[in-house]
Amino acid sequence: MNVYIKTYGCQMNERDSESAAAMLVSAGHRIAGTEEEADIVILNTCSVREQAERKAIGKLGILKKLKRERPHMIFGIMGCMAQSRGEELLKSVEHLDFAVGTDNIHAIPEIVEEIVRKKRKIRCDDRRGADTPGIDAHRINAEQGQFSAFLSISRGCNRYCSYCIVPYVRGPERSRDMDGIVAEARSLADHGIREIMLLGQNVAAYGLDGVPPPIAEDNSPFSELLERISAIDGIRRIRFTSPHPAFFNRKLIETIARLPKVCKCIHLPLQSGSDRILQRMNRPYDAEHYMNIIRSLRELVEGINFSTDIIVGFPGETEEDFEATRRIMREAAYDNAFIFKYSPRRGTVAAKMPDDVPQEEKERRNALLLRDLAEINASRNRELVGKTFEVLAEGPSKRNAARWSGRTDTFKLAVFPPSPGLKPGDFVRVRIERATPMTLYGSIEG
Ligand code: SF4
Repeated sequence: MNVYIKTYGCQMNERDSESAAAMLVSAGHRIAGTEEEADIVILNTCSVREQAERKAIGKLGILKKLKRERPHMIFGIMGCMAQSRGEELLKSVEHLDFAVGTDNIHAIPEIVEEIVRKKRKIRCDDRRGADTPGIDAHRINAEQGQFSAFLSISRGCNRYCSYCIVPYVRGPERSRDMDGIVAEARSLADHGIREIMLLGQNVAAYGLDGVPPPIAEDNSPFSELLERISAIDGIRRIRFTSPHPAFFNRKLIETIARLPKVCKCIHLPLQSGSDRILQRMNRPYDAEHYMNIIRSLRELVEGINFSTDIIVGFPGETEEDFEATRRIMREAAYDNAFIFKYSPRRGTVAAKMPDDVPQEEKERRNALLLRDLAEINASRNRELVGKTFEVLAEGPSKRNAARWSGRTDTFKLAVFPPSPGLKPGDFVRVRIERATPMTLYGSIEG
């Protein structure tokens, strides 16, 4: 049968969709490019924001029309919403056939078979360990130039940040077996993958399952994992997302600095620069600890850069709290920041706090941070003009197909005229000739 999977939400969901697709293909199905060409449609859902849930429910409603036209079609949901609201949705959405929770992706091919045979609705949401069957299944297309892949190293989260629904839907933190992860990375390298993005809700807590911060300065199984993946021939770049600052210790900082394959662009979610707000968010670090990580890495690694997540307008955030965030924004000099205007998420601790920052004030704070970020980016990128960087070529640029684009080790987008025979996944040295706040422009050297 032809299967179409639509993915909402984060990179973990993208990776889970890929793994579901690979298992369905192994079971004899084909992946369709659109829902109209499909016999089976699966929505991989997200619960992080209520809006994401509403979108998926709206989509399910639209799909009803396809079921009327082609009654043999099968409709399923997977991911966070399937885990937390699967039963309710199976009851209320007549044409929904299955709901598979976050730890049961491997069960999808069997579930589809059973629905075809018995025509009954199926729900599956057991909690399992992290090494579920098929977690290492990929669909790599090296012939079409795929050179980069996601690799999930853990499931769930133990942190219970007061605004976040993830621990409730994805369950407690469970780390995968290190040998299994390394074997998966090796197999990806054998299939032409040059860059791996390690994924987890809190990657820095890998292997520490359940150990609360503060973490001893030399206790970092994640560092060991980075070492082992670095040792694989063929893998040239390792990225990871997201690490929680409370799990960043001396050993991890030194490992990142020492291993050349670990990209020198670290995503370090700040959320707020105010210690008072961090406490209300149940984020067990303060601005000083956060800035010490950034300073230590800057001391050890020339040219390293940082990106972050920030929430503005969290309950109780005063102008003074917001100014503390702005100070860190300037001091950390981020190259990128994902800024969110706080909105309560039902079922979380913060949803019980008064949402007391007016919407227009949230908009103002958001706009100010975006303006600060643009200024920082413009000046940081200007400093790169005249320098040469190793760039992983991705393919023709979206805006101008006569040029190619690629990423530096620090995840800067570089645009340059291609050399003859250049392929996606090749490494080239690009000299930067001019820069905008978002993009570097240059030429391949020699
Ligand atoms: S660390 Fe906090 S924000 Fe991240 S997934 Fe866990 S609870 Fe959510």
